[in-house]
Amino acid sequence: MKSICVYCGSNFNGDPIVRAAIESLAQALTDQNITLIYGGGSVGVMGVIADEVLKRNGRVIGVIPQFLMDKEVGHQKLTEMIVTENMHERKQKMADLSDGFIVLPGGFGTLEEFFEVLTWLQLGLHGKAIGVLNVGGFYDPLFAQMDLMVEHRFLKPANRALVFNESNAFGLIDKMSKFDAIPDEVWFKDRNLT
Ligand code: AMP
Repeated sequence: MKSICVYCGSNFNGDPIVRAAIESLAQALTDQNITLIYGGGSVGVMGVIADEVLKRNGRVIGVIPQFLMDKEVGHQKLTEMIVTENMHERKQKMADLSDGFIVLPGGFGTLEEFFEVLTWLQLGLHGKAIGVLNVGGFYDPLFAQMDLMVEHRFLKPANRALVFNESNAFGLIDKMSKFDAIPDEVWFKDRNLT
């Protein structure tokens, strides 16, 4: 993988466990020469991951819509900043530029981006790996909800299995790099889409 998109919060609670996980992810990315693609913000977890990668001389590409840039929250020191017209264009660009996706702690925006790209994978619109860096069990309730969806037959087990759940950044990237896009015939049969 040459570039990974990180979805994460525009807020940060200062939790040292979260900070350590962000630092470790930055280290894992820079060790493997992987470019960070992210939302371009200077605030919250977004700002911290960008700074930590830059500190290690890594490459960081921000993708931010004009209206957020205008609110003066765009990071000023990135390797490259791409300014889009709107949120839809931003998310498409972030996905196009990335070979995989990692989810860090965040709020509504983070979950929206995560589930959009996961839905696209479920539909076979891309074949890129998606992993949750589940810091301190923060996302355990979300995975429990996914299991409940399977139990109630709103989610197929094969689709539930599409997302990696790891607490260690190096382990997560290792698993993601071995992720194989499933051939269409198997894809559609397993998922009963047609
Ligand atoms: P949340 O998880 O709700 O904090 O949302 C993270 C998402 O909020 C980002 O991906 C953006 O869509 C949006 N966002 C909020 N503030 C900023 C900011 N300062 N820079 C970039 N994106 C932001």
